[in-house]
Amino acid sequence: MKVPLLDLGEQNAALRTELDAAYARVMRSSQFIMGPEVTELETACAQVVEVKHAIGVSSGTDAILLALMVLGIGPGDEVICPSFTFFATAGCIARVGAKPVFADSCGTCFNIEVADAAAKVTPRTKAIIPVHLFGQAAEMDEVVALAGRYNLAVIEDAAQAFSAQYKGRYAGSIGTFGTYSFFPSKNLGGFGDAGMLVTNDDALAEKARLLRAHGAKPKYFHKMVGANFRMDPLQAALLRVKVPHLDSYSRKRAANAVYYQEKLSALPSVALRDGPHCRNRHPENLSGFKVMLPTVHEGRLHIWNQYTLRVQKTEAWKRPESPRDALRNYLAMKGIGAEIYYARPMHMQECFALSGESKSKLPVCERLSDQVLSIPVYPELPREHQDYIVEAIAEFLNG
Ligand SMILES: *Cc1c(COP(=O)(O)O)cnc(C)c1O
Repeated sequence: MKVPLLDLGEQNAALRTELDAAYARVMRSSQFIMGPEVTELETACAQVVEVKHAIGVSSGTDAILLALMVLGIGPGDEVICPSFTFFATAGCIARVGAKPVFADSCGTCFNIEVADAAAKVTPRTKAIIPVHLFGQAAEMDEVVALAGRYNLAVIEDAAQAFSAQYKGRYAGSIGTFGTYSFFPSKNLGGFGDAGMLVTNDDALAEKARLLRAHGAKPKYFHKMVGANFRMDPLQAALLRVKVPHLDSYSRKRAANAVYYQEKLSALPSVALRDGPHCRNRHPENLSGFKVMLPTVHEGRLHIWNQYTLRVQKTEAWKRPESPRDALRNYLAMKGIGAEIYYARPMHMQECFALSGESKSKLPVCERLSDQVLSIPVYPELPREHQDYIVEAIAEFLNG
């Protein structure tokens, strides 16, 4: 059997007529940069996540970069973010000339550990970027409290969490800015690169709109240096077709996750370590299991952009490769796609090594990079494929 990590074919085939019509509409309009399609998508996204302003941009990365530029963050400034994240979070901080300062993560929900972030605040710290990893919101009450204490801006990297919630509010709508990605593999996936920046602040939104197109107002007159972060209407038109289906995609992902929790937690040496908060991880109790299932903390609506296992090394494990790598290879042999998000934390990346960050220890992030494995959870994943995956994991654990 072939079970890919993600199969976009079925989702797009189901919308074929509407997608074709959207494409034809853009072709006929001959407007290929910005315009009403982008405005309509902005309005739709602002409604979904309940914010005042949504600003369509060229990618999730550019949304983060633009937020930092609007806030005027640059050389001499520090920005705290989790080390266990996709590169873009940290890369954008470095791109504006600021210093990324890395915090450790929660071992059960994979998000920033706010107590560690708090320990890393200095007089140069200007902002914090919590990442809502894998579709579950970070501990935002604590992030907002920390930011309030030191007057920091909060940029929520919600690239993987469009329409996820924290205590009834949408991920990305809580901080100074929220950023989303419509990279094809994200839960609202486009047909190329696209992203969205959101905020409830009128002045910041206006500045973001200016900097999105070279800071010009009016055209050809520049008060500020911006760049080209524009979204193209073809992406906007196609994404507009998918927005009304987002809830149904999220429900199907959640149903798949629940099914995994049920079936996998019934296997011997698989643990579902439910804890209400990130704080409960101290000290990380890693004994007595081989595979730990992902945890949903209290007050979170998880949209399951990824379903991520932790595969632990036990005393009995004698093979040279890690048990995580062995499981991944075993699944590959069975035709099952699985991916490591992320194989190396940011503080250990070569490009950030000069800052001295490589020497600091972030024990949970480092363990996660050795242990995580994401398995298929996409909305259209057939039940019999899930059964096949569960069976393969059971075989691996028995053998
Ligand atoms: C995908 C992703 C991004 C970047 O989004 P792009 O649209 O690919 O530029 C940023 N942060 C996180 C956590 C992501 O997963």
